[in-house]
Amino acid sequence: MRLRQVFYGAWALLLMVGLLGCGTEPVNQADLAAANESKVYRWKLITTWPKNLPGLGVAPERLADHLRKMSNGRLDIKVYGAGELVGAFEIFDAVSQGTAEMGHGAAYYWRGKIPAAQMFATVPFGMNAQEMNGWLHHGGGLELWRELYAPFNLVPFAAGNSGVQMAGWFNKEINSIADLNGLKMRIPGLGGEVLARAGGVPVSLPGSEVYTALQTGVIDATEWVGPYNDLALSLHTAAQYYYYPGWHEPGPTLEAFVNKDAWESLPADLQEMISVATRAINEDMLSEFTARNNSALVTLIEEHDVEVRALPQDVLERLKTLSDEVVAESMQGDELTKRIYKSYSDYFSAVKNYHDISEQAYLNARQGSDDGA
Ligand code: CA
Repeated sequence: MRLRQVFYGAWALLLMVGLLGCGTEPVNQADLAAANESKVYRWKLITTWPKNLPGLGVAPERLADHLRKMSNGRLDIKVYGAGELVGAFEIFDAVSQGTAEMGHGAAYYWRGKIPAAQMFATVPFGMNAQEMNGWLHHGGGLELWRELYAPFNLVPFAAGNSGVQMAGWFNKEINSIADLNGLKMRIPGLGGEVLARAGGVPVSLPGSEVYTALQTGVIDATEWVGPYNDLALSLHTAAQYYYYPGWHEPGPTLEAFVNKDAWESLPADLQEMISVATRAINEDMLSEFTARNNSALVTLIEEHDVEVRALPQDVLERLKTLSDEVVAESMQGDELTKRIYKSYSDYFSAVKNYHDISEQAYLNARQGSDDGA
């Protein structure tokens, strides 16, 4: 297939040169299009995830596969796990500078450089997956995200969502907010800042380092994603208690970003394929986690004797108060940061208003019928 494309490409190019050489003949637009359509773009996609990690790491592989098939081989993307080309937390700069054309990660990893980026990953006690997708794709969120990344020469896309995560893995019980005091925990983004305000010590680690850090006692506790992904990382062999709910990550969006020069070098049809294929993996990841989390949870409980615990209500209430303070304070930056925070907050408030009488009311009603059964 590729040989045939190269042949047609060469043929179209020769024809163009021939036509241009004649001087008088106009360039045939169909021949120009044929030359354009036969060009093969070989790209590198670097990620913050361990290579082929179920869920998060598989998503960019599926993205590359979709794009290869949709483009009939014209967009040929090779995916690299964290550390294969650059370290997990170096992908933003590497794609910005053109070392690779594309990246896949989570926007809260770049909080040190761009605090407002965290709003495009997840906000403690903020929007869930369904609400984030609404804001990004029909509420002005994605346009603001593009504006935020433009100075870094990057074009971002939503490209995955885990749904509500778990609060994490602990080796001691959490019975009061005081139990978080001094706790050294791997927890990214704004959630980490909330933990710090509760007296804990947040640590930022990529997925590949979480298990060893927990097992060797470098950290006391960790969050990662949820049962399906956490089972794959064997976190249950390094901690006893598995707490819920994931107050700090209620529906995190994963991101794909493209180097702006690489993006602008693509013909419109390949750009459209990237837009559509990222939407497809954005939805697909949520579907996969939804389908697999419960069976992984059953495995964790029945085969590995994991103790699943709910965070006490008063602990969650205190964390919510601290979260509201931390988020408001963190988003008092420049004009764009304020605009992003306002857009998120206004949309969240509006969507909550309706979800109170739709999603929330239905879940309450469903729970009621379960209790009565
Ligand atoms: Ca997480």
